[in-house]
Amino acid sequence: MIDIKGIHKTYPGAQPLHVLKGIDLHIAAGEMVSIMGASGSGKSTLLNILGVLDNYDEGEYRLHGELIRDLTENRAAEIRGRMLGFVFQSFNLISFKNAVENVALPLYYQGVSRRKRNDIAMEYLRRVGLEDWADHLPNELSGGQKQRVAIARALVSKPQVILADEPTGALDSVTTVEVMDLLRSVNRDGITMVIVTHEQSVAESTDRIIHIKDGIIGA
Ligand code: ATP
Ligand code: MG
Repeated sequence: MIDIKGIHKTYPGAQPLHVLKGIDLHIAAGEMVSIMGASGSGKSTLLNILGVLDNYDEGEYRLHGELIRDLTENRAAEIRGRMLGFVFQSFNLISFKNAVENVALPLYYQGVSRRKRNDIAMEYLRRVGLEDWADHLPNELSGGQKQRVAIARALVSKPQVILADEPTGALDSVTTVEVMDLLRSVNRDGITMVIVTHEQSVAESTDRIIHIKDGIIGA
């Protein structure tokens, strides 16, 4: 599903920062993996490259066989919309839209009719156990509920891969377990899962832990 060979990434500037120094990584379809590493080691940088949100300087990234390199912004957006779902530490919900409207947002951009959007979004709210919270605004939801809304929103466009950057970083330990259980059950439905985390317990609940150190994948 994800094939990376010899990826390098340098952030330019007065003092260019060579963050990724030859990353090799294969993630099979259906795997659930975690990425760990010190703060500043390049975890988010790598995840942004995987998510076709950022470019790399050297090497090769193939997603489901397609070479991800020098894409137009249109093509990149198409790949993101069709194949990838994103989950973030800070949930990134729209504060003035309720839960079901937040989940429906990707469908709006796909041009799905209002009625159908609502039906599909409700289906996914049910999937994450929040059907009774559809008309609540994000600030009326707990952290764990917000993350479940964000996961429902990531699922609504039927991605093949979910990329999550510190999805439990803002949650307490009980809620962390609940959110990881949900991500695991989503993975059991066949969605490949890549989770960046600082937390050993979160990493240990995935199939495989990938460590980044000094710009490369270590043991
Ligand atoms: P954390 O655990 O703190 O989230 P991380 O492993 O995700 O860290 P990155 O965000 O990938 O680390 O950043 C790697 C390095 O690149 C850091 O030194 C950071 O300051 C730098 N960096 C990240 N994004 C940019 C950018 N857009 N421009 C310049 N430097 C950047
Ligand atoms: Mg980061």
